[in-house]
Amino acid sequence: MLLPVTYRVDARGHVEVGGCDLVEVAREFGTPLYVYDEATVHVTAREFRAAMDGAGHVLYSAKAFASPQFLRVVAEEGLGLDVVSAGELHLALRSGFPAERIYFLGNNKSEEDLDAAFAAGVTLVVDGFHEFDILQSVVPAGRRMRAEVRLAPGVRPDTHEYIATGQLDSKFGFSVESGAARQAVERALGHDRLELVGLHSHIGSQIFDLHGHAAAMAIMLDLVAELKRDLGYTPPSLGAGGGLGIAYTHGDDPPTPREFVATLRAALEGGCAERDLPVPELVVEPGRSLAGPAGIALYTVGAIKEIPGLRTYVAVDGGMGDNIRPKLYGARYEAIKVDDPEPAESDLETVTIAGKYCESADILVSDARLPALRPGDLVALPAAGAYCLAMASNYNGMPRPAVVMVRDGQARLIRRRETLDDLLRTEIF
Ligand code: PLP
Repeated sequence: MLLPVTYRVDARGHVEVGGCDLVEVAREFGTPLYVYDEATVHVTAREFRAAMDGAGHVLYSAKAFASPQFLRVVAEEGLGLDVVSAGELHLALRSGFPAERIYFLGNNKSEEDLDAAFAAGVTLVVDGFHEFDILQSVVPAGRRMRAEVRLAPGVRPDTHEYIATGQLDSKFGFSVESGAARQAVERALGHDRLELVGLHSHIGSQIFDLHGHAAAMAIMLDLVAELKRDLGYTPPSLGAGGGLGIAYTHGDDPPTPREFVATLRAALEGGCAERDLPVPELVVEPGRSLAGPAGIALYTVGAIKEIPGLRTYVAVDGGMGDNIRPKLYGARYEAIKVDDPEPAESDLETVTIAGKYCESADILVSDARLPALRPGDLVALPAAGAYCLAMASNYNGMPRPAVVMVRDGQARLIRRRETLDDLLRTEIF
């Protein structure tokens, strides 16, 4: 699914999402603009939950994109939430997200992070031995904090090295292979301020080949069997993380949420039967696959520079400040002309969509195939809902874009555009 579920071409030949003509939406709210289709979030969340069919829980990974109204949609669907900082936790709590459904992760939590997590009553996912020491002072004597231990199963998934997390050489989690995972579980079980409620893992992101997830599950179940045999401990829940890839271009064909969950359930249920283990609750933690396909970035074309025989640069009013992914991971996108989204093949030209930041690397789409563009035209990048705005910066003194949610023909502003004064709000003059 490259485009949101409500995508269609309206009578005027414009892109319509959530019943709204995106030319009109751009006119009303300006560009660059991120538009989220609420229906896509609902449909995807329901697909995950239906596939789980009571076998466990679905958490949304807030790092992909979070705002109060977006999180409200996630909460309405009955999902939990994974946060990785006191900042994400603060946003979630201020948005009214139920604390009992929040999990606090992160590889280098500070005492302040742990204080915030304990005060909020969320579940902690312990990622390093130092946390056991800090918790001794954070949690008062006689109290226990719900906690899980994050495992590094030692699987290297088929994805970009920057977004692979479960291999031995990773800053995340306790390695199963090295014995650190078993040691961490022993520490957690013997800790007088912790209640160990499960084990957790996440092997990486933007993964199409689910064999890595199945392999990680088998490694974790071997550990669970060892824990049961040696310590008499069986974890009530087992987290398989997120990582399901999405389509960014027409050629991408990722598994569906249903296939992702089915693979994990088969690996978990079959693996437990083979090892004579009770089946723990399965926890999955999608971020990209929930937020990504729901979001579209809208830009206005400005300068066009033609280098005869070489390349045509079409510059838009955003770029690496709102979407660093092309440069960070070599991510590829499609571009669509908003008032002519399905042109005839014969009308297509090859252009490079560049941003407006002072970096040669600020290219959003190399070799985009689009109809002829002029200054003022609108260009959309689909599948821009995850890890774009979440990683946005004010580089070059550019305010970050506004965000709109569309539903049933209504477009509502859910985050206003930053102003020039917002850029100065932390400066001391
Ligand atoms: N869980 C953890 C621990 C993560 O680090 C991430 C992302 O990196 C996710 C879940 C979400 O992954 P994705 O957005 O690929 O589904």
